[in-house]
Amino acid sequence: MQNARIRPAPYTALVTNLIFPLHERVKQHRSVAVRKQLEESQYWPEERLRDLQLQRLRRLLARAGTSVPYFRDLFAQIGFDPARDVRSLDDLARLPLMDKSVIRANVDRLKADDAVGLARFNTGGSSGEPLIFYIGKERVSHDVAAKWRATRWWNVDIGDPEIVVWGSPIELGAQDRVRALRDLLLRTHLLPAFEMSAAKLDGFVARIRAHKPRMLFGYPSALSHIARHARARGQRMDDLGIRVAFVTSERLYDEQRTQISDTFGCPVANGYGGRDAGFIAHQCPEGGMHITAEDIVVEILDPDGKPVPRGQAGEIVVTHLATGDFPFIRYRTGDIGVLGTEQCNCGRGLPLLQEIQGRSTDFLVAQDGTVMHGLALVYILRDLPQVQAFKIVQESLDLTHVQVVLAAPLDAQAFGKLQGQIERGFKARLGAGVVVEVMQVAEIAPEKSGKFRYVVSKVATGSVVA
Ligand SMILES: [Zn+2]
Repeated sequence: MQNARIRPAPYTALVTNLIFPLHERVKQHRSVAVRKQLEESQYWPEERLRDLQLQRLRRLLARAGTSVPYFRDLFAQIGFDPARDVRSLDDLARLPLMDKSVIRANVDRLKADDAVGLARFNTGGSSGEPLIFYIGKERVSHDVAAKWRATRWWNVDIGDPEIVVWGSPIELGAQDRVRALRDLLLRTHLLPAFEMSAAKLDGFVARIRAHKPRMLFGYPSALSHIARHARARGQRMDDLGIRVAFVTSERLYDEQRTQISDTFGCPVANGYGGRDAGFIAHQCPEGGMHITAEDIVVEILDPDGKPVPRGQAGEIVVTHLATGDFPFIRYRTGDIGVLGTEQCNCGRGLPLLQEIQGRSTDFLVAQDGTVMHGLALVYILRDLPQVQAFKIVQESLDLTHVQVVLAAPLDAQAFGKLQGQIERGFKARLGAGVVVEVMQVAEIAPEKSGKFRYVVSKVATGSVVA
């Protein structure tokens, strides 16, 4: 069932079999052993995976109920006894949902009394509001293993040269010498995505060429940005032997997939998840978005919090089974998704996440209250050949800003015509009374997190089911 694997290069084999396992042992991580288990369990039938989930869920909830102050109090308050009340995965629904505000208000009470070596994380959060949370060693091991397994689906192993385009200045700040040495040994090369001036982009293109990575890893917006820049410079990038571009943390738009794949001459694999919720699903070469079911229970819920049948859209809520040190139990992602109803052709039993319809912040609200996907406006701009890049910011129900980077300079009359076209298209969707201000900019500045977002709505907050 597995792909015929290309024999790894000697250095990669050294890293995979010796250096990385040693690194993990020193850090007291179990990712090597976990990855080996995951390689087997990915082919289990779904019922067996559900049995594993249930066992691990019981263990997680038992630990939360005894060692984690927040859950100890919660369980006492609602009369929930993990030993007695967890007969099936459906019993999870007896517990309330957990969102970012719960974590913010209880960050210390969510740490297990007996947790050691918790690592602090801080996500920028697409809404701009940071979220601080902690990750224990068990979770690190499982998250590393899940990513490692998924890259192996694409014939990329730990130790293969990799370029990571990443944005968080906070994470980069934490980059100590040990980490730098590790990255050197593992041949991971980091490009900081939060500074993307033309000069920086020239440097990135040169570094990718020099590093000859097997894999690119990063935000789709950042990778497509680099791809576009390489093309504009007439710089070929499809001759480096890149096997896959793994994208994550943002919605992957079709035109980004095409741009990245055409420029780097490799397939694009989508990964869904984040530091907070975990690496929820990864795409296999057959195209299926496989849920990391051994570690993560995914529920799809309607706006009233009730589960929807498979094949129907709802909010993605996750329970990460390796988070005993700082539990994520029924954590709301704010994303909309659909559980697949069929099996993937690759033969893996891991269930599929069929559609991820984007973050709630990708949604816009028309003047009459209609909620629409940001794509409704993206399509208008995408079809204009004069526009090379853009960003839409819905400031309020009455005002939307559009920043455009032009493909070539336009005279005042031609730009006026373009403005008119954009305004008409936007008003047709947002309402005739909406003010649409179109501004020409030299480049689209990334968010603080380093992500480039096409659509930002300051109106559509909270979760929205389309
Ligand atoms: Zn598959």
